[in-house]
Amino acid sequence: MTMDDKQLNHLLSSIKQICGDNSITPLHEPTIGQLEKQYVQDCLDSGWISSAGKYVDDFEKSLQNYTGVKYAIATVNGTSALHICLLLAGVKANEEVLIPNLTFIATANAVCYTSAIPHLIDVSMDTLGVDPVKLRIYLEDIGELRLDGLYNKNTGNKISTLIVMHTYGHPCDMDELLIVCKKFNLKLIEDAAESLGSFYHGKHTGQFGESAALSFNGNKIISSGGGGAILTNNSELAAKAKHLTTTAKIPGTISSEHDYIAYNYRLPNINAALGLAQIESLPNKLVNKRLLAKKYQQTFASENHLKIFEEPKNCRSNYWLNLLLLNKPCRATRDKLITKCQEIGIYTRPVWGLMHRQVMFHQNPHMPNLEISERLFDSIICLPSSPQLISHNE
Ligand SMILES: *Cc1c(COP(=O)(O)O)cnc(C)c1O
Repeated sequence: MTMDDKQLNHLLSSIKQICGDNSITPLHEPTIGQLEKQYVQDCLDSGWISSAGKYVDDFEKSLQNYTGVKYAIATVNGTSALHICLLLAGVKANEEVLIPNLTFIATANAVCYTSAIPHLIDVSMDTLGVDPVKLRIYLEDIGELRLDGLYNKNTGNKISTLIVMHTYGHPCDMDELLIVCKKFNLKLIEDAAESLGSFYHGKHTGQFGESAALSFNGNKIISSGGGGAILTNNSELAAKAKHLTTTAKIPGTISSEHDYIAYNYRLPNINAALGLAQIESLPNKLVNKRLLAKKYQQTFASENHLKIFEEPKNCRSNYWLNLLLLNKPCRATRDKLITKCQEIGIYTRPVWGLMHRQVMFHQNPHMPNLEISERLFDSIICLPSSPQLISHNE
């Protein structure tokens, strides 16, 4: 049964109630407090505004402390962090890298920066991330395990790596995914751009792969204006990540000597100052985001056309964005609701365009059945999720 106008209007008024009387409610707004001003001012006063300075070190340390990952290397954005994670995994040209079909374009772009080929995998309805069961069955079918790794029988290419993404902060089924990686000799990278503050079985996301990428873009749970970080527990990879993000300059040389064609992916100190202040307010923000998620869940509990997505079992999600899922996928209903919200200043959004439908990836290898990502594309509406919204709801 699809929704009629009366039901749509009812839904709209419930969303409006949660969003309060603001003339505009963005999808996700950064929160800037006194601490942000103090650190940025201190950075300006010191003159150390660029790619060296104490805030970069302090920000990296605070990320290590918060996530429990041994090493964090700050970068200019999340996409560059992902690019480096792929280089650390040794991904080479013409290899295939498995990625979710439902993700932000950066996951696929980063694979292409290494001249490897994104190979698209369907996701699970329970986690919105890569479906381990479907992946295992698929690889049993198309994969051939040789001494040096997994090969795609259809294309002849090596399949070296899996990137998982914790969609909107909800952790993937890591135990099962790790079993699949082990069975097929795949390296694992976590795109944790959306999942700072999200835990799987008590461990922070980003702890499970060989390396992981975070993002601090303006709409993420915390923001350094722009920024990202590489996380890893491996000291050699950490040193390599630092080297590759800082033009591979050989330390101790007076003239600039370099040993690799590397990147300038350094996070400026002024952005790190902002990031450090934001990390200090993260625990408080997470409390408010959980309260907001509860509020959405309670408000829509008795609706029978839709549900509000809840964190997977044994996970603690950061609830970066709250999601409304139509029980019956319908793009027209989805778009009508989004348009109606926009007319009253409430910004909601559909999920990203699926990877297999992007012109660049039409020819890419993919699972023949991408049914769940297609279904989710027609049913997800992202709801306003700024932690500030909780203040009208107490
Ligand atoms: C935001 C995001 C990125 C990239 O981060 P930027 O900092 O914008 O480069 C990568 N992957 C996912 C899933 C994201 O949501």
